[in-house]
Amino acid sequence: MSPEEEEVLLSEEDEEEALSARPVQIVVAHEDDHAFELDEAALERILLQEHVRDLNVVVVSVAGAFRKGKSFLLDFMLRFMYNQTSCSWLGGHEEPLTGFTWRGGCERETTGILAWSEVFVVDKPDGSKVAVLLIDTQGAFDSQSTIKDCATLFALSTMTSSVQVYNLSQNVQEDDLQHLQVCTLMFLIRDWSYPYEHSYGLEGGKSFLEKRLQVKQNQHEELQNVRKHIHSCFSNIGCFLLPHPGLKVATNPNFDGRLTDIDDDFKTELVNLVPILLSPENLVEKEIGGSKVTCRDLVQYFKAYMKIYQG
Ligand code: GDP
Ligand code: MG
Repeated sequence: MSPEEEEVLLSEEDEEEALSARPVQIVVAHEDDHAFELDEAALERILLQEHVRDLNVVVVSVAGAFRKGKSFLLDFMLRFMYNQTSCSWLGGHEEPLTGFTWRGGCERETTGILAWSEVFVVDKPDGSKVAVLLIDTQGAFDSQSTIKDCATLFALSTMTSSVQVYNLSQNVQEDDLQHLQVCTLMFLIRDWSYPYEHSYGLEGGKSFLEKRLQVKQNQHEELQNVRKHIHSCFSNIGCFLLPHPGLKVATNPNFDGRLTDIDDDFKTELVNLVPILLSPENLVEKEIGGSKVTCRDLVQYFKAYMKIYQG
């Protein structure tokens, strides 16, 4: 076999692996008895693969309530990871979105933590190789009975991730702050509709969040404490304001994620957002107690944190 042929075969194999890659549920929340369960075998199949287990891990999680476009965003994050080297990573105009399945409607989904089964190996500019794991943390977050469960789930994914993207609709409400117990936290506000007050993107997000997290003299003590606590918990807090993606995305049941159906403003900001989270120079390796953590270590931390929350 010529070297050229060998190369073709290899890339076909890679492609097959990419096609079979899928979201895998690693933590299941049983709502009837408020118990959480870690699928250790599933987690180990992902993190103990030979080519990644000893690499330092970067864990990027997107967390928040159902039906707020988390999977939609994660699918674009996947496109970026699979097409890093291309400046047209956003995809073809008529190409349906795939990956973390997303769909319209409002039927119930399971609460829990999903991981993308393929761990990406990325060369950082300093020459080191890191393993990138993408996580989807889904919760109800909006009904009183499950607030504690969701806070637990959110804490669990925050403790095990290096960047937590907190996906919120339209604004930051008092409730959204109270869920925070415990790295880099990025508030992601979808359907931002006041660009004339705070512009779309990271800069506008910064000024908006500063205002929202300000501790004021005349504020109730409880509200002041939540704000002080957040500042003490996260070493780095950011905020990104994303415009509404357009009516087809939000309301058309036949929408399959193709770019032609998405508003230009949204695509412009998406092209800014995803590299902030995922480009090699911006990847943040997970550290616990000041030391970097490998994929293999992360399995152990997951098990340990589960014990704490079950206890
Ligand atoms: P998830 O449950 O948070 O993972 O939400 P999905 O990604 O499944 O999206 C739920 C619905 O919201 C789908 O119909 C999407 O087309 C739509 N959607 C995706 N992103 C946005 C957004 O930024 N704003 C609005 N209004 N809808 C969105
Ligand atoms: Mg989803």
